[in-house]
Amino acid sequence: MASAPDDLAPQAALAALGWGEPFVSSFAQHADPGRRPGRVVAEDRGLYLVATAAGDVAASVSGRFRFESNEDAGAWPAVGDWVALDSRPDGGTIHAVLARRSAFARLAAGKKTRTQVIGANVEVVFVVTSLNHDFNPRRLERYLAAAWESGARPVVVLSKADLAEDLDASLLAAESAAPGVPILVVSAVDGTGLDEIRSHLAPGRTVALVGSSGVGKSTLINALAGRELQAVAEVRLDDGRGRHTTIRRELVRLDDGALVLDTPGMREFALDDDDGIGSSFADLEAIAAACRFGDCAHLSEPGCAVQAATRDGRLAPARVEAYLKLSREAVHAERRHDALARIAERRRWKIIHKSVQAHMRERYGDAR
Ligand code: GDP
Ligand code: ZN
Repeated sequence: MASAPDDLAPQAALAALGWGEPFVSSFAQHADPGRRPGRVVAEDRGLYLVATAAGDVAASVSGRFRFESNEDAGAWPAVGDWVALDSRPDGGTIHAVLARRSAFARLAAGKKTRTQVIGANVEVVFVVTSLNHDFNPRRLERYLAAAWESGARPVVVLSKADLAEDLDASLLAAESAAPGVPILVVSAVDGTGLDEIRSHLAPGRTVALVGSSGVGKSTLINALAGRELQAVAEVRLDDGRGRHTTIRRELVRLDDGALVLDTPGMREFALDDDDGIGSSFADLEAIAAACRFGDCAHLSEPGCAVQAATRDGRLAPARVEAYLKLSREAVHAERRHDALARIAERRRWKIIHKSVQAHMRERYGDAR
C-alpha cells in the first residue's frame, strides 16, 4: 500500500485492528481500485459489521462470492476475518476473505456437512478451566488439542484459584496435560494472576477465551477490560436496504489495545464432556447405539449402524471420521500427549520455516 502521509492515520487504525501479515500479502491479490481491507467484528445471518480504517461498515458478500462459496461454509467470512470490501453509502460488499493465520472450526451439522469457521485469526487462546471441583485434566487436553489445531497459541488459565482445594495437585495434573504450554493460576475475585494474563496481551493482538460454561470467562474478560464489556458491545446494524438489527460486537478492543474475540461458537467450542466425545456428536452417538456389537468400532463391523448411515447420506463421512479420530484419542489417552507434542512441533517448524523464508525474501529478494 502507498505510504503517503495521508495514509499514516489509516495505517495506524488498521494496525490497531490487528493488520499485518499474512493479510497484507493476501490483500495485495484482491486490491482492485476501491477495495480496502476490513475486519469482521460481528455477524448476523449474512450481514456483517466490518471495522475499517474509516470506521464501521455494514456489509454483505458479493453475488459472485455467494455463488462461488455457496457449498463451502468454511470459505464464508467469520468474526475475526480480514476481508477485501468496497463500500458505498448504501452498505459494503465483501469480495474476498483474506488468508487466515488461524481458524477455529467446527463441523456443522446438516445435509451439506462442512467445516464452519467460528472465529478467525486468533493469536493467543486462553484455555480456561476452573480450579474448583470441576477441574478435569482430560477436558483440558481436549481443549488444548483443538487450540493447537486452530493455529493459535494456547495458554492454560486455571481459574477460581480462591476456590482451589489442592492447588499443587491440580497444577501437576495441568502440567502433564499441557506439556510446554504456559499455565497461569488466576482468580478474578482476589486479582491473582491477572497481570500474568495481561503479559500475553499486546496492542493489535487478538486473543480468545475458551472453556466450559461457568469457568469464569466473562468475569475474566470484564476484569481485564475494567468494565462490563457485554453492555458496551451492542451495535445497531443498518444494511442500507431496509434491514435494521441490533447485534453484539464479538471482536472487542480493550483499553490497552488487545482485541478479544468472543463469539457464542467460541464459547461452546471443543468438547464439553467429561467422559466421552461430547454433545457435538449426540446424533451420531444415538445412531451408534443401534450397532449390532456394543463395542463396534464403526469401521467394517457387520451390522454397523454408523457405516449404514454414512452410506445412505444421513451422516457425512468427514464428520464420522472426526468422531472416530476423537474416539481413538479418547481410548488412547496416553498417546494423546505424543500427538499434541507432534502437532505443536510440526507447527513450530512450519512457523520457523515460514519466517526464515520471509527473512530470505526480504534480504535477497524473490529470485533466489
Ligand atoms: P463463563 O460462563 O465462563 O463466562 O463464566 P462466568 O464469568 O459467567 O462465571 C461463572 C461464575 O463463576 C460466576 O458466578 C462468577 O461470579 C464466578 N467466578 C468467576 N471467576 C471467579 C473467581 O475467580 N473466583 C470465584 N470464587 N468465582 C468466580
Ligand atoms: Zn458401528
